[in-house]
Amino acid sequence: MKAIRFIRPGRPPEIVDVRTPTPAPGQILVKIAGAGVCHSDLHILDHDLGLQGPFILGHENSGHVAALGAGVQGWKEGDPVLVYGPWGCGRCHACQTSAENYCENHASLGTMGGGLGSDGGMAEYMLVPSPRLLVPLGDLDPVDAAPLADAALTPYHAIKSALPLMTPGATVLVIGIGGLGHMAVQILKAMTPARLIAADIDESKLGHARKLGVEHVVDTSDTDAAAEMIAGIAGPRGVAVALDFVGAQATVDLCVRVVGRNSRLTVVGLAGGVVHYAANSPPYGCEVSVPYWGSRTELMEVVALAAAGRIRAGIERFPLEEAVQVYQRLRDGKIRGRAVLQP
Ligand code: NAD
Ligand code: ZN
Ligand code: ZN
Repeated sequence: MKAIRFIRPGRPPEIVDVRTPTPAPGQILVKIAGAGVCHSDLHILDHDLGLQGPFILGHENSGHVAALGAGVQGWKEGDPVLVYGPWGCGRCHACQTSAENYCENHASLGTMGGGLGSDGGMAEYMLVPSPRLLVPLGDLDPVDAAPLADAALTPYHAIKSALPLMTPGATVLVIGIGGLGHMAVQILKAMTPARLIAADIDESKLGHARKLGVEHVVDTSDTDAAAEMIAGIAGPRGVAVALDFVGAQATVDLCVRVVGRNSRLTVVGLAGGVVHYAANSPPYGCEVSVPYWGSRTELMEVVALAAAGRIRAGIERFPLEEAVQVYQRLRDGKIRGRAVLQP
């Protein structure tokens, strides 16, 4: 089968022909319908995130059950599924609560999941080590649904834990209206009555936010002007929840400036920004949070939101073979919503 493989940082991924895997006892083989192209892959490809290649990329995957390893029950060939991405040990306290994203044994596993150390979904087929890592897709289009596994699950988890702060009259700031950010604004609209501000440095991404029904959009290319504008919209209370889907120094600093007292600053983006602390900056009562991905049950909730028609990934479809060009488009900021590769 054809696959897109990470070799090592600084090298473009390779298109390779590899043997189609066979599921060992307890494993499941999934025929991939869609593999989302996440900006985290660019961090893996361009910088060193400490992951040992080679492995097949793609950690945001959907498809159909193709074969069951011995002993697997409750699934049958053809079932449409999402593959839950952060693979934990399955035994620790966090994993038993379905939060494998916070597995206590992650350091000793040698992999963060398929496409993140183990072979992922940018291929015709993908091996999933356990049926507990599959979530039923129901009637959703499997290609459209691929981004639910990360681009929607990650913001959903970040937003859900901040819900008590997102009351009527509170202001929520979302920075970076790309793959994750365009899902975040939809999730926020579906789940909270708070006032929403979308921010980006790219006018077309701000246009996307407007199209998704966001009333206030702010260009943050000039951070001083942006801070003033955001403060004007939020009023004296300041921003109650800032969700930074970039995580660069400029965006983290902007969040610190605009959050109010008793707020939350959530950094999701991995661009290396640092939160500096001084007395009352961030303001007193501000919680800083660094969520990672989401739990298995939260992925089921995300699927339910999509099935109810409340959220929908805006996707651009590409053939698997175009992965290298698609990564370049993502690097150049030219993808609207999420790119999904189709084997
Ligand atoms: P993306 O490339 O699809 O979107 C990024 C967006 O940020 C683009 O719209 C871009 O124009 C905008 N942007 C870039 N620099 C900016 C700046 N200085 N100010 C304002 N906007 C700016 O990326 P994505 O796939 O949505 O991923 C976003 C980030 O989240 C990445 O760093 C990725 O690695 C990270 N991520 C983290 C987790 C986690 O669990 N913590 C999970 C998935 C992705
Ligand atoms: Zn990702
Ligand atoms: Zn665990």
